[in-house]
Amino acid sequence: MPIAKMTSSVLKILGKKPSTRAYPFYKRPAFKDARGKIVIDIPLCIYCGICMRRCPANAIFTNIKEKVWTIDHFRCVNCKLCVDVCPKKCLSMESDQALPSTTRLGPEPSLKK
Ligand code: SF4
Ligand code: SF4
Repeated sequence: MPIAKMTSSVLKILGKKPSTRAYPFYKRPAFKDARGKIVIDIPLCIYCGICMRRCPANAIFTNIKEKVWTIDHFRCVNCKLCVDVCPKKCLSMESDQALPSTTRLGPEPSLKK
C-alpha cells in the first residue's frame, strides 16, 4: 500500500522539528576553533611577507616598500598557515558565517598603514 506508507511517513515528518535552519535568519554559533575568514590587525603588520610566501593558495600579497597587504578571499583555502607563521600575531580567523556571494570580486583594497 504505497499511499498508506506515504501518508504514515508524511504524518511522522509533520510532527517533527525541521532538520534544517532558516539561515541567514537563524545563525548557529560557530564551533570552538572553527576556521573562517582571515582578518588582519594592520597596525601590527611589518609587511615581512612570510604569510605570502607560506600561503599554499597564493591568496596573500604583500609589498614591504609600499606597505601593502592584500588577500583574495576566493583563493583562500582556510588552512590557517598564515595565522600560525605570522611573527607579529596580527592575523586571525573570523569564525562568523558570511553571506553567500554570487559574484567574484577582486582582491580587497590594499591595506596600508
Ligand atoms: S607574516 Fe604577519 S607581519 Fe608578516 S606580512 Fe604577513 S601579516 Fe604582516
Ligand atoms: S588561511 Fe591558508 S590559504 Fe588562506 S590566506 Fe592563510 S595561508 Fe593562505
